Amino acid sequence: MIELSHIVKRFGTNTVLNDISVSLAEGSVTALVGPSGGGKSTLLRCVNLLEIPTAGTIRLGDDRLEFAEGRKVGWQAIQRLRRQTGMVFQNFQLFPHQTAIGNVMEGLVTVLKWPADRARARALELLEKVGMAHKADAWPATLSGGQQQRVAIARALAPSPRVLLCDEPTSALDPELAEEVVEVLSRLAREGTTMIMATHDLRLASRVADHVVFLDGGVVVESGPPRKIFSTPERERTKRFIASLS
Ligand code: ADP
Ligand code: MG
Repeated sequence: MIELSHIVKRFGTNTVLNDISVSLAEGSVTALVGPSGGGKSTLLRCVNLLEIPTAGTIRLGDDRLEFAEGRKVGWQAIQRLRRQTGMVFQNFQLFPHQTAIGNVMEGLVTVLKWPADRARARALELLEKVGMAHKADAWPATLSGGQQQRVAIARALAPSPRVLLCDEPTSALDPELAEEVVEVLSRLAREGTTMIMATHDLRLASRVADHVVFLDGGVVVESGPPRKIFSTPERERTKRFIASLS
């Protein structure tokens, strides 16, 4: 359903992603793990075109975008692909001047032009899903980090994206607050939400992911089921990384 083929991303002369190919089935969860600077965030940002790949192909459902140096990709094609993704950031990035429910409604009203009452009903449904309906009218600043992240997840899911992209969703949180976010993400995974998440939280990855991609130096070093990658990695680089975390 989602296929990244031969993705290359350069910043100037620095090649940050070097021929990455990953495909994921609908309803599956892929975890991107690996050392800082390995290219995880850049790869996620390439999937929703916050960064435009230097080369390669992205297929998402019926859309297929091909990138090459010197080739121009239309704004409409970018928007169409972007609308099929939802993004959750490490630092939540809620709109501070909007309540929890306002944050979830925002894109539905301003981008998708839904009437406010329909957007409100959808937002409430999603806040319920992440256990935040009781805080619908709260301001972000009054919420804990875990609560803010759960609202951010609801916001990302509001337009029913084909894929939810999560960049280190638990990294800014204390273990206890991380746990409530892990619980929400694992429930979404069980319900069949397609996700790609960058994380160095091995507990999150092993609980939620079907597939782990170990990324270092902009290349896929090794990939497979979490049990395999975390317990019996084949590559020296993967072994060292896993050992350094435990
Ligand atoms: P990770 O998320 O795995 O820590 P990143 O994707 O953030 O890795 O970074 C990979 C590499 O790309 C790093 O060397 C980083 O400095 C570089 N990089 C990321 N974004 C930019 C940018 N906008 N301009 C230049 N270099 C960047
Ligand atoms: Mg990152």
